[in-house]
Amino acid sequence: MDFKQIISHCKEYGFVYQSSEIYDGLSAVYDYGPNGVNLKNNLKQYWWRSMVQMHDNIVGLDSAIFMHPKIWKASGHVDAFNDPLVDNKDSKKRYRADQLIEGYTDKIEAKIKKDVEKARKKFDDFDEKMFRETNGRIVERQKKIDDVLGRMNSMLAAEDMEGLKNLIEELEIACPESGSRNWTDVRQFNLMFNTQLGNIAGEDGKLYLRPETAQGIFVNFLNVSKTSRQKVPFGIAQIGKAFRNEIVARQFIFRMREFEQMEMQFFVRPGTEMEWYEAWREKRMKWHEAIGSPAEKLRFHNHENLAHYANAASDIEFEFPFGFKELEGIHSRTDFDLGAHQELSGKKLQYFDPELDKNYVPYVVETSIGADRMFLAQVSHCLREEEVPDADGKATNRTVMKFHPAIAPIKCAVLPLLKNNESLVKASKDICDKLRLAVDIQYDEKDAIGRRYRRQDAIGTPFCVTVDHQSLEDNTVTLRDRDSLEQTRISIDEINSQVLAKTSMEDLLLSTK
Ligand code: ATP
Repeated sequence: MDFKQIISHCKEYGFVYQSSEIYDGLSAVYDYGPNGVNLKNNLKQYWWRSMVQMHDNIVGLDSAIFMHPKIWKASGHVDAFNDPLVDNKDSKKRYRADQLIEGYTDKIEAKIKKDVEKARKKFDDFDEKMFRETNGRIVERQKKIDDVLGRMNSMLAAEDMEGLKNLIEELEIACPESGSRNWTDVRQFNLMFNTQLGNIAGEDGKLYLRPETAQGIFVNFLNVSKTSRQKVPFGIAQIGKAFRNEIVARQFIFRMREFEQMEMQFFVRPGTEMEWYEAWREKRMKWHEAIGSPAEKLRFHNHENLAHYANAASDIEFEFPFGFKELEGIHSRTDFDLGAHQELSGKKLQYFDPELDKNYVPYVVETSIGADRMFLAQVSHCLREEEVPDADGKATNRTVMKFHPAIAPIKCAVLPLLKNNESLVKASKDICDKLRLAVDIQYDEKDAIGRRYRRQDAIGTPFCVTVDHQSLEDNTVTLRDRDSLEQTRISIDEINSQVLAKTSMEDLLLSTK
């Protein structure tokens, strides 16, 4: 499905709404509707349980959004959490210089892809890797991409704003809105939102809305290690809101100004960080595959230009409808954060390693994923149009969300065959009363049964229980499977255990081990 259809499906079926819509919306801020909040909670549960519940050596934390402003000084965010900003003087639109340049290389990449697809259709035993390496036109184009991105990354690392402006001019990049190349100079723009404490005037009372949850973990390192009796290596996991004043906020919930992160900081003995970095890369990829994201839609992207605090970093990228983009970051952050907080706070943030009989500042391997991006990845992958046989065996189209049953917003719908039949309605409601103790359910009696099935397909409900006349005689119902469309008759007494078994997170958690 194309991106527009995905966005409108999300709205129509109560997954995601634009924030403040009746006031024409607030850009890059979104609200989650009744189905959206369930789906998001389930994804957060999947992450939390695979981290905290499945590991003896990972514990949870819920730190406050507001923190002492010095934290953001020590972390480097006050001085360096910037994006390069450029305005088009004609359209007055704002852009991120690096995204304009990436937009340029994306177009070349699209041309390469087109050539590859053409060739794939032409040759039976098509070898994509060889074709990319030997086709003259593709080699030229790839060289151009690598050259442009290489130069851009060096400029970003060196904070060379003039270089970025020159590169935009050299590539003759025009404003997508006005078509003009009338650009301002490129300048740094800090992404942190700030606010003011009521009782302290001036700079001292300036607070920031956290741009990441990780710092709340670092500044609690001592508290947690002392009170949880964890020994290095151990991790602290946190899910919470983060805020970034993104310059260009496009692409729906992919890039928001208020979003939610799921971060785990894993504290290790210095010198062992590369082993842990590799281990966490592998584990995190498994987590994505277990939930049903296909291997071909996932890939690693290794950072060539490392941030000042990292000695290794990679992203897990997902193929969103607008291409492969970062879904999760896995970073080896050395002792940068704990070291910086130790220095600025004057408090020792060290760990006594009984085996080595010495104190050290632990190194950190971080895994950091946006809950909203994970939501978008799942929705865009699972939403499908497909042809299925209707009740008479004729082909018909349906819209279905093929979520893994454990994360589906509603696990089971309960449907009386007829809404005007008191006995059927009563039996259905009795089933609901029991089933709702186990899972999220929906009762639906409106419209013909086929239409009700379609409504449940459209929100990804994996099972529907239908109560018909036979139910009243022999205490059985039909259990319809969203994917196979099979309907099996089961006893009413078995509904809870069957639905629970088929929708539980157990298998998922096992496969992430
Ligand atoms: P990007 O390069 O896309 O701006 P980033 O490298 O700045 O992302 P990190 O600082 O590594 O992102 O944050 C970790 C994760 O948080 C990202 O992988 C992403 O899933 C999520 N995230 C970051 N910024 C946003 C945002 N504005 N909206 C939604 N999710 C975000």
